[in-house]
Amino acid sequence: LIKAAKKFEWVYVPSLYEFEYDSEKTKGIKALIPNLRLQFKNAVVRDFENTPVPLRPVVPFTQAVHERISVEIMRGCPGRCYFCQASFCRRPVRRRSVEKITEIAKACYYSTGFDTISLLSLSTADYPELEELTAKLNEYFRDKHVGLSMPSLRVDRQLKLLPGLVTSVRKGGLTIAVEAASERLREIINKPLKDEDLFAAVEAAYRAGWQRLKLYFIVGLAGETEEDIKSVVELSFQLAKLRKQIDGKTGQINVTISWLVPKPHTPFGWLA
Ligand code: SF4
Repeated sequence: LIKAAKKFEWVYVPSLYEFEYDSEKTKGIKALIPNLRLQFKNAVVRDFENTPVPLRPVVPFTQAVHERISVEIMRGCPGRCYFCQASFCRRPVRRRSVEKITEIAKACYYSTGFDTISLLSLSTADYPELEELTAKLNEYFRDKHVGLSMPSLRVDRQLKLLPGLVTSVRKGGLTIAVEAASERLREIINKPLKDEDLFAAVEAAYRAGWQRLKLYFIVGLAGETEEDIKSVVELSFQLAKLRKQIDGKTGQINVTISWLVPKPHTPFGWLA
């Protein structure tokens, strides 16, 4: 560990340092042995395109929670939500090419037989060639009954295109990270999403066959009022009712509300 700590600028070994505190603030840091650095850098995979990927993942005998092929399509996030540590600490944004992702998906499909391919990243909706990628994967996998799924999505104009592109076989819930129920509060957290874009996206999801939506919200944000919290209920209700105009039924909405945990290295870190 000592050798690694001396050699790599991204290795930090806590037991080799001593901290000095002034009340709750850090006053200084001291290395306990000579020639140790006091400043560190992130370990960053530069050549994300060609970095090795497990192409023959283990397929368990029992049913696993995530029974699917997972392909990481992008690392880092172009968004700058003020509460999000990943946005500030996982730079620069790197992405794999459409060809490479397709190649990985095919290899994993033939070695596992899974029927779903999950396109992973911090914000899959921000992958620039998403339309091209999903079209290419759908073209190859559709007649093999393999569907595509995506993790939680950032909502922007592009989102309303997604339901038509994502063809999860099980058509489970479409997960959307709304974060705050009012446009005003979303401006404050630097997630400037218009209500009309959100409604257009959800309507497109219902039309494409989704019946259930998972919405993520955060409470305890800077600038939040009582009204903003009540709006979570109202907005969820409106989004459930939106389905009525499509097939006369009410949409199922699953709401997850989390407390803001201010994270270091983010603008909201200072709220702690
Ligand atoms: S879109 Fe998601 S990952 Fe990107 S900055 Fe916002 S919260 Fe973070």
